Amino acid sequence: MVGAGQMGSGIAHVCALAGLPVVLLDTKADALDKAMAAIARNMDRQVAKEAITAGQKADALARVTPSGDYADFADADLVIETVTEKEEVKRAIFRALTPHLKPSCILASNTSSISITRLAAGTDRPDRFIGIHFMNPVPVMKLIEVIRGIATAEPTFQAVQALAARLDKTTAVSEDFPAFIVNRILVPMINEAVYALYEGVAGVTAIDSALRLGANHKMGPLELADFIGLDTCLSIMQVLHEGLADSKYRPCPLLVKYVEAGWLGRKTGRGFYDYGATPPRPTR
Ligand code: NAD
Repeated sequence: MVGAGQMGSGIAHVCALAGLPVVLLDTKADALDKAMAAIARNMDRQVAKEAITAGQKADALARVTPSGDYADFADADLVIETVTEKEEVKRAIFRALTPHLKPSCILASNTSSISITRLAAGTDRPDRFIGIHFMNPVPVMKLIEVIRGIATAEPTFQAVQALAARLDKTTAVSEDFPAFIVNRILVPMINEAVYALYEGVAGVTAIDSALRLGANHKMGPLELADFIGLDTCLSIMQVLHEGLADSKYRPCPLLVKYVEAGWLGRKTGRGFYDYGATPPRPTR
């Protein structure tokens, strides 16, 4: 895994439990410590629920090697990139990473929205490049979207299907269009909820309880936005807006403002809710 944030640590968690050795790389000094602590904490939860044993937890944790050096990927059969949703950041990583990989290594991106074909074209292995889009939180969510770029070879696709089966996940195959299936539908709904807030239709609590109780959603859209990360939601809207050139995908200015403030949701302690309070307090 390149990127040890919410998604990188979650994917490392499920791979390690499935018996796969994992190298987990991040450039931020504290990200790796936080990721290893989060994996251990989430596995503790599974132990408490008797979904896994303490022995399985210990074995899985021992399979995860934190790293700050691309050379540690020399033996990898698969590298999954899970860094910030910014195309130029991902491209720079692929340029630095690929010289360290063996030729047969498959390269995947966990991007929520960016073109797999375009990312692949910037690497030395478009035929062994693919989109593997896990859902958050990875240990809980059953789905993986699999996205083939125009040049993705069949054996690459089959290898990823086999991995999904090993991780006990179900796949949905999407064509390579902006934001694929889930986020094409989900994130414009979140953006619309932010517009409703921005235009004064209702407050945070009313919007979230309306969708929870009125549409039977597990989480309200603003709660969900905080859970995903407002920076990720905004990036996805920007990719939809640019990629499909339709004004209906215009990111809500209020979403932009929250991101500019660094109020990115749960991961920074504040978004549409303030997580310093119990229960979390709406910020509007
Ligand atoms: P995050 O902010 O939690 O983590 C991103 C990590 O990338 C950070 O730890 C950061 O230090 C690291 N990073 C940044 N630049 C780096 C570099 N040059 N080299 C190595 N590491 C670097 O973000 P996240 O929620 O884990 O999202 C990661 C990816 O997964 C994004 O592409 C996002 O669209 C996608 N995704 C997110 C969700 C979600 O619900 N959050 C769901 C599915 C997919």
